[in-house]
Amino acid sequence: MSEFANNLSCAQFQAELPELISSGEHIGNHQHLRGCKLCRALLADLDAIAQAARRLFPVEEPPDALWWDIESAIVREEAAPLGWSS
Ligand SMILES: [Zn+2]
Repeated sequence: MSEFANNLSCAQFQAELPELISSGEHIGNHQHLRGCKLCRALLADLDAIAQAARRLFPVEEPPDALWWDIESAIVREEAAPLGWSS
């Protein structure tokens, strides 16, 4: 059974992938994926990346404390002497 026997080419499928993912559909059942191990591997990679990203950034908005850290870091930088730069 050839991978090229699919109705949908890999390029077409991958172009639709973001839409399929954001639709919340269970794309594991997608017709193209069932016949294409290349795209299954691609999807597994994307899934691993997405899971890693969720672990690294568990919330969409950074907590207020982070902004305070950034703000105080900026203030420190502005207050630092710049004599060496001119
Ligand atoms: Zn494919």
